[in-house]
Amino acid sequence: MSAASLDSLVGALTCLPGVGRKSAQRMALHLLQHDRDGAERIVGSLRVALDRLQHCRQCRNFADDELCTVCADSSRDHATVCIVETPADVLAVEASGGYRGRYFVLLGKLSPLDGMGPEQIGLDLLEQQLDQGGITEIILATGATVEGDITAQYIADLATKRDIAATRLARGIPLGGELEFVDSGTLSRALAARRPD
Ligand code: ZN
Repeated sequence: MSAASLDSLVGALTCLPGVGRKSAQRMALHLLQHDRDGAERIVGSLRVALDRLQHCRQCRNFADDELCTVCADSSRDHATVCIVETPADVLAVEASGGYRGRYFVLLGKLSPLDGMGPEQIGLDLLEQQLDQGGITEIILATGATVEGDITAQYIADLATKRDIAATRLARGIPLGGELEFVDSGTLSRALAARRPD
């Protein structure tokens, strides 16, 4: 590259998933040559998101305020809690359209070898909420991986110890597939046909 600032922009863009040096160059040149307004919008919204986004104090999803829009919505069913691994999973379940409960986002899964224990995935917070009462059903929607299954089993035990129903998504979710890549139709059927753990 012929300019240090351009070089540094290209380098920065390669931190995005799936973006190598070639694509980063194309993006950078496109923004600078053809879409400077778009570039300003990216800078602005990235700044706002970095400054404002925090984790919801109830479900740990991204939120602009202390509570995310789902947790703050009194028309949702707060007695039903869907447990997912990532904020992207929340978007996937929301896009499936049929779910009216709330969420709890683990931001990971149990994996002792990687230093991910119950506290790292927020289970102390989840246990507090289970103890407070008011939750009648936990839907386990962790990914169909070995760690996802172990995590689901661990949480199911926390729920059943307190006489709270634990259900799992019905089959139809591809083994080893992450929830965010499952299409909405399959996901909404898997939710509707959930079964006792
Ligand atoms: Zn929330």
